[in-house]
Amino acid sequence: MPIQTFKIAALAGDGIGPEVMRQAILVLRAIEKPFNASFAISEAPVGWAGIDAAGKALPDSTLALCKSSDAILFGSVGLPDRDPTIPKEERPERAALLRIRKEFGLYANLRPVKLHAPLAHACPLNADRQAGGIDVLVVRELTGGMYFGQPKKTELVSEGVHRAIDTMVYTTPEIERIAHVAFKAARLRRKRVTSIDKANVLENGVLWREVVTRVGKSYGDVALEHMFVDNAAMQLMLRPSQFDVMLCENMFGDILSDEAAALAGSLGMLPSASLGAGSGERVFGFYEPAGGTAPDIAGKNLANPIAQILSAAMMLRFSFGMEAAASAVEKAVATAIHSGLRTGDIYSATDPAAKRTTTTEMGATIAAAITA
Ligand code: NAD
Repeated sequence: MPIQTFKIAALAGDGIGPEVMRQAILVLRAIEKPFNASFAISEAPVGWAGIDAAGKALPDSTLALCKSSDAILFGSVGLPDRDPTIPKEERPERAALLRIRKEFGLYANLRPVKLHAPLAHACPLNADRQAGGIDVLVVRELTGGMYFGQPKKTELVSEGVHRAIDTMVYTTPEIERIAHVAFKAARLRRKRVTSIDKANVLENGVLWREVVTRVGKSYGDVALEHMFVDNAAMQLMLRPSQFDVMLCENMFGDILSDEAAALAGSLGMLPSASLGAGSGERVFGFYEPAGGTAPDIAGKNLANPIAQILSAAMMLRFSFGMEAAASAVEKAVATAIHSGLRTGDIYSATDPAAKRTTTTEMGATIAAAITA
């Protein structure tokens, strides 16, 4: 089989970004030979690193690199203590992240939450509630709904009385394309989609349910159920094992993905993907850890690189169609966890098998555990 080649823009950003990115690149290098792939990885500054290098959070050369790449592997941006006088729209969180989202039409956000059995202590749920395991993928629509619908304004209706208006809007094509993402992702997992809505109250919910049901008919191998959002929030706490893929509109997904994230115990374990338009297996995507730049531990070799490494695994799966390689990375992460290695965020002094480790040792162990 000919070698597959992919171009990756690696934007490490600020804080712990460069430390964890190095470990993800190490793991990608370990994938190349056994999986017959070649990654052209180009690094470029973003965030405060971009401002320092080129005066902008997203320098033009960095954006150009992203446009000529198959996917973006992103660290995190933002340092709360840096220059508070810089205008909001020029700050890295806005100028880099929102610009990239817009530029690449990223409409689907995927957040997997998996609790590894040896980390059960880090989960806020008791053992009974963890029964059956926690392995959920939240698929969130990212560009529609209440956050963007018009009209969106606050107006004065009478003296001293204001009225704020946000509008929830979805069109059939918007629902269809995110539903396809969820069903396709479910095919790579346990083949169950729970579609979340509020069809008992919202017109949007009725349309959402109708369209998702229709799209689901072309995925006969995937089971579909519908759940009201308030019940879903409760069920996540009561019996998370019932969920495989949760399909949500923008605001419900925003809230439920954070609720689900809390179940994994640490931000350092949580990857994410944001997918844009594309066809076939090469879907353009933006892959980043769920956490931020963690200034409190930056530069100390303490950060957990697993979120960044698992983000790279999602890139292999969703942008490069390399399912076996993605699974190999996830298996190597599980191997490292089961061996007892723990960065500070997942360490428990009461676990006799736990061995406190560094960013670099965790990364090297995972890279060494990669097998085809
Ligand atoms: P944070 O996620 O950076 O940190 C919250 C806590 O989680 C800290 O205690 C941190 O040490 C810990 N943590 C996060 N990632 C970790 C990891 N990989 N390993 C071990 N511990 C980890 O959130 P914050 O402190 O609110 O934000 C810091 C900066 O990051 C801010 O400037 C914020 O705007 C930015 N931020 C950026 C992104 C992004 O780039 N997408 C996301 C969130 C926050």
